[in-house]
Amino acid sequence: MIRVLVNGADGRMGSQVVKAVVADNELELVGGVSISHIGEDLGEIAGIGALGLAVRAGLGTAVDELKPDVVVDFTTPQAVYGNVKTCIAHGVDIVVGTTGLTEKQREELGEEAKRGDTSLFIAPNFSIGAVLLMKVSADIAAYFPDAEIIELHHNNKLDAPSGTAVMTADKIAAARRKAGAVPAPDRTRESLEGARGASVQAVPVHSVRLPGYVAHQEVLFGGYGEILTVRHDSLDRKSFMPGVILAVKKVSSRKGLTFGLENYL
Ligand code: NAP
Repeated sequence: MIRVLVNGADGRMGSQVVKAVVADNELELVGGVSISHIGEDLGEIAGIGALGLAVRAGLGTAVDELKPDVVVDFTTPQAVYGNVKTCIAHGVDIVVGTTGLTEKQREELGEEAKRGDTSLFIAPNFSIGAVLLMKVSADIAAYFPDAEIIELHHNNKLDAPSGTAVMTADKIAAARRKAGAVPAPDRTRESLEGARGASVQAVPVHSVRLPGYVAHQEVLFGGYGEILTVRHDSLDRKSFMPGVILAVKKVSSRKGLTFGLENYL
């Protein structure tokens, strides 16, 4: 049995992780940490009935006392860097779903994890469909170098652009370089700043934030007299759980940083 602690356990993603861990017979939920709901039952919050495990404050203390094998972090872009450092300092492996870490921070934390003989897994997107969307986007970019990304999320998402959009743009840019495929010049001059979106490695990214959306992304490729569009929709946060559970089971197999769910597929 792999002992799992959920950080951000009362959040939208954290409570789904609580349910998914409880439902898996190779995993044991040993506790959850958050900022609010301290003392309340983790199962009651997740809507699956009492589990006899209270939400706790303080990640470091909880790790020391509950001795998990793996911590799963779905907290906030502001908190995640410190949370990873705490896990490495306490010698526990960590699976990170929280977005917002920069490449520099990821690499730095990866080096620290390696020195501490711990495993750090980070995925901007745990949905298998979204991982496939990124993969086919890179394949297409070799033939259609002109690409733009539209990502659409609920209005409570704290960061923009999404980690998935940045990772997709990185993969498109790498595929273009490898194929020697050069995008057509963009001759538009913005009459209103931001109208052309953010540029990630010269791929325009447009972020939509509206109530009703969960997590969606479209990648538009323009060609000569043809348009190719690929789209993925996460309609429910359940869509991320097979990927999270896979990562929890695989994380300890490689010390240091592993970035992206495709490494486990
Ligand atoms: P959420 O509902 O706001 O949940 C975040 C939870 O973390 C809240 O319960 C919050 O507690 C708690 N928290 C905040 N700071 C904390 C800390 N220092 N220690 C422990 N708990 C802390 O957000 P969400 O929708 O679940 O999303 C969480 C993160 O996952 C976001 O970065 C989001 O972009 C990302 N995400 C990733 C994927 C993926 O596939 N990788 C998918 C969906 C979402 P309080 O409410 O009490 O402050």
